[in-house]
Amino acid sequence: MSKPVILTGLRANNDLHIGNYFGALLPLIDMAKNHADEYEINLFVPDLHSFTTPIDHAQLHGQIMHNLKLFVAAGLPLDHPNIHIYRQSYVPAHSELTWILDCFTGMGEMNRMTQFKDKSQKLLEVKPGEGYAGITLAKEQQISVGLFNYPVLMAADILLYGATYVPVGDDQTQHLEFARDIAGRMNNKFGELFIVPKAVKEQHEFFGKEQGLRIKDLSDPSRKMSKSDETGKGIIFLGDSPAEASKKVMAATTDSAGTIHHDMDKQPGISNLLQIHALASGEELTDVIGKYDGQTRYGDLKKDVAASVSAMLTDFQAKLTQVDEAALMTKLESDEKQMNEVANATLLRVQQAVGLRAKA
Ligand code: ATP
Ligand code: MG
Repeated sequence: MSKPVILTGLRANNDLHIGNYFGALLPLIDMAKNHADEYEINLFVPDLHSFTTPIDHAQLHGQIMHNLKLFVAAGLPLDHPNIHIYRQSYVPAHSELTWILDCFTGMGEMNRMTQFKDKSQKLLEVKPGEGYAGITLAKEQQISVGLFNYPVLMAADILLYGATYVPVGDDQTQHLEFARDIAGRMNNKFGELFIVPKAVKEQHEFFGKEQGLRIKDLSDPSRKMSKSDETGKGIIFLGDSPAEASKKVMAATTDSAGTIHHDMDKQPGISNLLQIHALASGEELTDVIGKYDGQTRYGDLKKDVAASVSAMLTDFQAKLTQVDEAALMTKLESDEKQMNEVANATLLRVQQAVGLRAKA
């Protein structure tokens, strides 16, 4: 690829929620629109990453296509030649490069990954027979090698396209560092194989790290909304009906302080509601805070939040029904063809370097 590559993906393990929407999807689409003339923008669905933790496999295929439709409904232009959308598993080089990189990766390196520790810990807390992501656990409870190996697949995702810029949240910075390490290690051993992605600090400078927007779970505001926590109550999914969403907002956990103040430490539930209201209504957070600060009727705030969230969902869901699925499919298939060419060229270089293919 001739222009520098920006690459990012959103896992399709469940419907997206308003945190993913405001914290990832909208910024990503803005970024794609703003940079598409000077960069190649790779926006992919990491479908192979979708079941490193247990999911309902009957839903996966539909979810992948649904997520792509969400991108379009959220404003992704389908007609820009530098914006590429693709499904990871439709480019087999991702899996093949992962295997090769695996053989140059230390167990110890992967063991240090905090996301692996966190997610495997979470799996261990689920008792046999209890639901996880909507399914009943028995054997699935076991922590998979796929979860352990996740960062290597992520490194392959990045290195195949020579991506320089990869927006990462705090939970992924270690993985990006690993991608840099393995790229550097392979380059040292075999000569220039890979473009090394920029360091986390430069990524943040480039993307102007918007100070980590984290929408909290409505029923437990000490945690962020997470799409895999499918207890459901505290999460507003983009597919929730306005009535369902309103019910969740009205049942949101608050506090007993009795007065509304924006204070993430002392009043996390209330602060989260103010944040959600600002995002859903398009108002500035400071204006929303100004309007409600000092008020004492939590119920009134909840009603207003429920109304703005309902309006936002109604609007978004209307856009979703208007997505031109045929145009999406045409773009997807043509991009996947192109991405296979780019990825296979990198893979071949690596195969030649490690001795699997004759050198040109
Ligand atoms: P999972 O439980 O499967 O990890 P998740 O909701 O944490 O799901 P990710 O797939 O990990 O979502 O992340 C997708 C994107 O959404 C990332 O860019 C992440 O930073 C962003 N994101 C996730 N949760 C929130 C949240 N609560 N508020 C704002 N942004 C979020
Ligand atoms: Mg997450």
